[in-house]
Amino acid sequence: MLKVTFPHIGNSHIPFKTLLSELGVEPVIPPPISARTITLGTKIAPEFACFPLKVNLGNYIEAIEAGAEVILMAGGVGPCRFGYYGEVQREILADAGYNVEFLVFEAPKTHPLELWTKIKHFFPRHRLADFKRAIHLAWLKAEAIDKFDRLVAQIRPQEKVSGTTSAIQAKFYHLLDAVDTKVAIKRLADDFINELQNIPLKDQHLPRLRIVLLGEIYLVLESRVNFQIERLLGEMGVIVERTIYFTDWVRDQLVLSIFKPNWNKASHLLAKPYLQSFVGGHGIETVAHTVAAGVNRYDGVIQLAPFTCMPEIVAMQTLPNITKELNIPVLSIIIDEHSAEAGVKTRLEAFVDLLAHRKNRRVGGRKLEVISGN
Ligand code: SF4
Repeated sequence: MLKVTFPHIGNSHIPFKTLLSELGVEPVIPPPISARTITLGTKIAPEFACFPLKVNLGNYIEAIEAGAEVILMAGGVGPCRFGYYGEVQREILADAGYNVEFLVFEAPKTHPLELWTKIKHFFPRHRLADFKRAIHLAWLKAEAIDKFDRLVAQIRPQEKVSGTTSAIQAKFYHLLDAVDTKVAIKRLADDFINELQNIPLKDQHLPRLRIVLLGEIYLVLESRVNFQIERLLGEMGVIVERTIYFTDWVRDQLVLSIFKPNWNKASHLLAKPYLQSFVGGHGIETVAHTVAAGVNRYDGVIQLAPFTCMPEIVAMQTLPNITKELNIPVLSIIIDEHSAEAGVKTRLEAFVDLLAHRKNRRVGGRKLEVISGN
């Protein structure tokens, strides 16, 4: 059976595994991202390549060690480097002596027929209905994860016993990975959402900090490279509004970009006073969501950016003006292979303390529920 792998990004390996298994190939899930993964990728990548590319390469090497023969990878168009990631990664791996095939999925709006030909090369006997069934099942899992995680971000900061939400979350992912029918996915998701809703909570009337988490998609979604920032903030009592979810991104890229070309108009309009050009990646969205956070009186914004990420660096230049004009504090965290958890945690704690002081002044003495590491 053909052994196929793909890079990690958040929990997307759960739906991707289902998709591949349903299509009759053997999914090879790379081991969870570790220091070894990052070292392996960094060793063969150019020094100034984007950090996600380096981690992806580490994933591939570890998957090849586990027997992977084909690598699936998303492609893209636009000014950022993602568009030629697939080809660059293929060449780097070949130069390092790894002989694998690459299947790069370009967004269907660019070359739909080419994409279909590539897919048929690997799945010559499959009918359209087979793909539809496999995609539907995988999509149900992806949706269940995002729905669950949105609720986690609300519940975790209020849990009475620290760690309860994270334990239920880990169990949910584990069991979701094992089920393989529509009914079982739905039942499991309903049961676990119910469990989340019944977690004992602290006083819900206490004012809480609300922070918007945004930036480059890979860093926002991949908790093993962003040092579990969402969990850390939640455990400090902060409600995190993440602006990127995997299913939203797929829907934007695969559906809206084809059928509703103006789907991102609102972001462009919000960003326009500060950034007029499309800079690729999520640059425009970073600016637009920061503006929205200021207008909607959030307490702060955290931007995550990989070292050398052009769209986020351009967006970053505009953020001081937005902070000044809309009175919204922003913390930009740049991550690469040299970043360390302690450094990121210290900056987070300092930022949360600062926001708590500001908010305490505003809410007039009703003490905030902020648990910092101090
Ligand atoms: S968005 Fe940034 S990190 Fe991602 S590929 Fe583009 S330049 Fe690299």
